[in-house]
Amino acid sequence: MPAKVVSPEEFKKVSVKPGTKENFLVRIGQMSTSTDIHIPVVVVQGRKDGPKTFVTAGQHAEETGSIDAAKRFGGQLTPDEVSGTVVVCPLQNPGAWAFRTRLYPLDAPTVSDIGSLKKGEANGILTDRAFYALTECISDGANFGLDIHATHLDSMNYPRTMTMITGDEPEAVHKKRVELSRKVGYEVIHLWNVGKGRGGLTSVLSNRGAPCIAIEAGEGWRALEPFPSILIRGIKNFCKAVGNLKGEPEMPDLQVEVTKRFEITCNYGGFSNLFVKCGDYVKKGQVVGQVRNMFDEVLEELTSPANGIIIRCSLLPTVATGARLCNVSETDIGDKWTNRKLPTLEKQITFSGYSRAK
Ligand SMILES: [Zn+2]
Repeated sequence: MPAKVVSPEEFKKVSVKPGTKENFLVRIGQMSTSTDIHIPVVVVQGRKDGPKTFVTAGQHAEETGSIDAAKRFGGQLTPDEVSGTVVVCPLQNPGAWAFRTRLYPLDAPTVSDIGSLKKGEANGILTDRAFYALTECISDGANFGLDIHATHLDSMNYPRTMTMITGDEPEAVHKKRVELSRKVGYEVIHLWNVGKGRGGLTSVLSNRGAPCIAIEAGEGWRALEPFPSILIRGIKNFCKAVGNLKGEPEMPDLQVEVTKRFEITCNYGGFSNLFVKCGDYVKKGQVVGQVRNMFDEVLEELTSPANGIIIRCSLLPTVATGARLCNVSETDIGDKWTNRKLPTLEKQITFSGYSRAK
């Protein structure tokens, strides 16, 4: 289906007929090659009434599993299965995608993280313009939002809901976000109190009355299964929970809510080895990894500061002082977690050649 090229302001005014689907390329500027750069958007308009939901990924362009999930979901969704409107934007940051980087590198004078902006600028640096188009035009009128992530380039993330709570959200929005955080159907629900004044798409939408949450799963750079499918299951669950799709969300046997996470960082530099993997339950004081020098001597052993579940593990062994080895989300759930019945897709997550014997 050919995509219509529109400006952000023109996109705001488009009307897609009930029972149809349209692709758009929202022009936000030009690359250094003097060629136009666009944010891709799919609008699926059902025949029946329902909410307007904004499903989006690719804020951090190295998180390719999330981009793949949104792209596949938007590409396959048909107007017949939708009530209301589903707006899918698989790539919020096309400039960063072009350079295979996390952030758009040509912003001047400072490279900006689209994930922490509080406000877009129609005439600002390219990242500000992208954020303006996303928050003021592409998601205009949305009742709900879902922002999809994978992880940083060095690591792997166990599937989780990530709901940043700032305290700026209206009370009803907060309640709905917590409810949706559960219904999106991941085993780990991270209700993260980040404090007032936090920016980013989820905050901007939530503050204006449209409950918006984030989900995360997968690796940096790569989009290997089962992660895109795990994210697509989350998107469908979200759309079922808000009323865009029929049916009940697919729920796991066990869900755990966590509020506190600890980054386990190296004090010494060298070669890291992990003794844990994503999804493992660890006890406070348990050794989770080592840093060794090039004589294979142990420089330090790193331990978990709390009982909890390992969510993110760094997959790259090159570490310097301050590098993150892994993180742990605090919970005392213990054996109940270890002995749980794994969801079918989570069972397929593999960790080949992950660690060495102590
Ligand atoms: Zn991200």
